[in-house]
Amino acid sequence: MRAEILAVGSELLLGQILNTNAKFISEQLAILGIDVYYQTVIGDNEKRLYDSLNLASQRSDIVILTGGLGPTKDDLTKETVAKLFQTKLVYDKNALFSIEQYFIKRKMKMTENNKKQALILEGAEVLVNRNGMAPGMLFKKDKKMIILLPGPPKEMEPMFVKELVPLLEKMLLNRGKITSRVLRFFNIGESALETRLETLIDNQTNPTIAPLAGNGEVTLRLTVKHEDDGEAIRLLDATEKEIQAIVGDYFYGYDQTSLMKQVVQQLKMEKWTISCAESLTGGMFASELTSFSGVSEIFSGGTVAYSTKEKEKQLQVSKEVIKQDGVVSESCAKEMALGAKKLYESDIAISFTGVAGPDKQEGKDPGTVYISIVGKSGIANGYTLSLHGSRNAIRDRAVKYGCYYLLN
Ligand code: ATP
Ligand code: MG
Repeated sequence: MRAEILAVGSELLLGQILNTNAKFISEQLAILGIDVYYQTVIGDNEKRLYDSLNLASQRSDIVILTGGLGPTKDDLTKETVAKLFQTKLVYDKNALFSIEQYFIKRKMKMTENNKKQALILEGAEVLVNRNGMAPGMLFKKDKKMIILLPGPPKEMEPMFVKELVPLLEKMLLNRGKITSRVLRFFNIGESALETRLETLIDNQTNPTIAPLAGNGEVTLRLTVKHEDDGEAIRLLDATEKEIQAIVGDYFYGYDQTSLMKQVVQQLKMEKWTISCAESLTGGMFASELTSFSGVSEIFSGGTVAYSTKEKEKQLQVSKEVIKQDGVVSESCAKEMALGAKKLYESDIAISFTGVAGPDKQEGKDPGTVYISIVGKSGIANGYTLSLHGSRNAIRDRAVKYGCYYLLN
């Protein structure tokens, strides 16, 4: 089942607005196990829209259009679909009624172009718009499905979830149901993971295994076609077991979780408190940690000690360490973590020091990062990293590694 998305609107091409509709729709379709092969942006131009729609409907089973359903002259999406599929536009009684009511309630005169919003493609299923006037449509022709959605996200998103998803699920159910499970990995590159799983990925048909990389992580999406939920779980479990046997060391969680979310869960489970001492990450660890609700039971506090002086003053990093090894060092990271644990009287503590770049520091290259974790016993474990990328990428990656080490 191939889908593609056409976002219509000149303001998208002009860069005035971001195509968040395509992102939202792609995410939603991925959850349903429907593959998106193309995303296109087209201006409010009838010929180019016609041509794009023509191409899309030849190569994809489902074409989703957003935008151009409004009352104005430049809104010509449904007119163009009608032209391509040689279908009439007819008034939808319910849509017309609710548009009329809208104007009556506000004691406003309804203009003729507003009536236009109640026009639908003959034979299309109407997707009710609870947050605006123009209804959406699901139109089927020659085994193709053309879906028209309004442009404003506050109208499109609820319509998608409440009106369209149930119809798509029904269609998928008729074709044999689909369920997916996402496995998340860290500290292994996409190509390394794929190489190790190559035979498995190539020979696996149900579930299929789709690798995806981004934000320094790799995910595998397993998608299974099945008759009932029990069968789905059995098939997914069996394939996951094979994957875990090969790359389980890098696995950290399922579906929509994140490394920090896992850390929060683990600390809550252990009933441990954590504190942090941050230099190059400048509070990013604490900020991400506190983005989760209910962390007051596990997070004691954190210090951003950026200057050498503050590292000494607030975290009791010793003069000897600073003189001998510098602040970008394993021993400094260790003393920072010990200092935080003492200062906040937490069960465990983590510290970050390093070179975010772009320049070298203390003769060390950008991307050199030292992380130290002091456990309950008071013993510190040190980790050294050589990261690549921009300043912020290095800082972001450092936090992720910190979480990863906390989990292991
Ligand atoms: P309206 O009735 O408001 O005219 P419409 O269905 O005709 O709705 P457009 O005129 O194409 O849709 O777009 C209306 C507004 O919706 C845009 O100004 C923009 O703010 C938002 N919008 C349109 N398309 C997108 C998109 N792909 N991603 C995010 N926002 C969008
Ligand atoms: Mg419009």
